[in-house]
Amino acid sequence: MSYDIAVIPGDGIGNEVVEAVEPLLVDVAAAHGVDVSTTWFDWGSQRYLDEGALMPDDGLDRLESFDAILLGAVGHPDVPDHVTLRGLRLPITKGFNQHVCKRPSYLFEGVDSPLKGYTDGDIDLVVYRQNTEGEYADVGGREHRGFENEVAVQASVFTREATEAVVRPAFEAASERDGKLTNVTKSNAQAHSMVFWDDIVEEVSEEYPDVEVERLLVDAASMDFVRRPDEFDVVVASNLFGDILTDIGGIISGSLGLAPSTNINPDRTYPSMFEPVHGSAFDIMGEGVANPLATVLSGALMFDHLGEDAVADALHDAVAAQLADNDAPRTADIGGSAATVDVTDELTERLI
Ligand code: NAD
Ligand code: MN
Repeated sequence: MSYDIAVIPGDGIGNEVVEAVEPLLVDVAAAHGVDVSTTWFDWGSQRYLDEGALMPDDGLDRLESFDAILLGAVGHPDVPDHVTLRGLRLPITKGFNQHVCKRPSYLFEGVDSPLKGYTDGDIDLVVYRQNTEGEYADVGGREHRGFENEVAVQASVFTREATEAVVRPAFEAASERDGKLTNVTKSNAQAHSMVFWDDIVEEVSEEYPDVEVERLLVDAASMDFVRRPDEFDVVVASNLFGDILTDIGGIISGSLGLAPSTNINPDRTYPSMFEPVHGSAFDIMGEGVANPLATVLSGALMFDHLGEDAVADALHDAVAAQLADNDAPRTADIGGSAATVDVTDELTERLI
């Protein structure tokens, strides 16, 4: 098979990890007889500073024919974060109906969790985050005049279609895994949106009698991600809550530098997008020391989505073996001192 992949390295360490990982993905695929050709897009904050927009007006049209998109990260010290996020990632996830943001958290052998007593495989959960609406719907405004006090309104939007679009695959995953789904909301405080969400979860649950549903409020869920992460299997949550929980999921599994992410268009009308959970990391950008493994694992999930299981498994297994090997180079976030390219060079040697 052959695939055309759009590559958007973006800013900061997003750029650094994608530059290091892209050749590895192409070469490993080739070693399995899978032909990958990549087209690079220099969209991001530098383009915004030069031309006033992170991507061109016809950006989505230019991406539409690709089989998948690989994204690094966006975010620049000189550009407000709401500009970078709303100028690139959100238009793509929303424009391509990438309703499902699937983010696994796995504690690999050879990686220390900051949580005491947790070791190899003790943490093995996956969060299904609603990815196209909810709290990030971009509905609202700011009223300056006629009020003594200024007012800002930020509305959330929950539609049946986009909610079901993430709830159903979460149930599907739970029934294939350990049969347990944790539904995370804040239905006590947000009685409109979250009660609607809970109703949909309950309706869909009738189609999956084998799946046990646990309900948690997001504050308690955040605590339990730290207190008892081993008891989670599949977690489903809204856009904001899923965003927050998956940073916790990343760090309890060792580092954000190991946390992959997928933005899936469920009906496959449009390309899906694969990226690390992390951002552009101002504190280490430009140093060449970012952990590239979250991006490698995101690449594995991309091949999994494309149906190239052998490539996906090879990448995933090589990452696991390299992390388990004490003598292999590792980056500072997981206790080493290696550069980004040392890690991808070693991985390339293992794989090809
Ligand atoms: P961040 O994820 O960039 O960094 C958080 C912390 O984790 C930092 O200390 C960083 O050094 C560390 N870290 C993250 N990835 C790492 C890796 N691969 N290797 C080693 N250490 C790693 O989050 P932030 O600092 O809140 O945000 C920085 C910028 O990135 C902001 O502009 C933000 O808006 C943006 N951002 C973008 C995305 C995205 O493009 N999808 C996601 C999150 C944040
Ligand atoms: Mn995030």
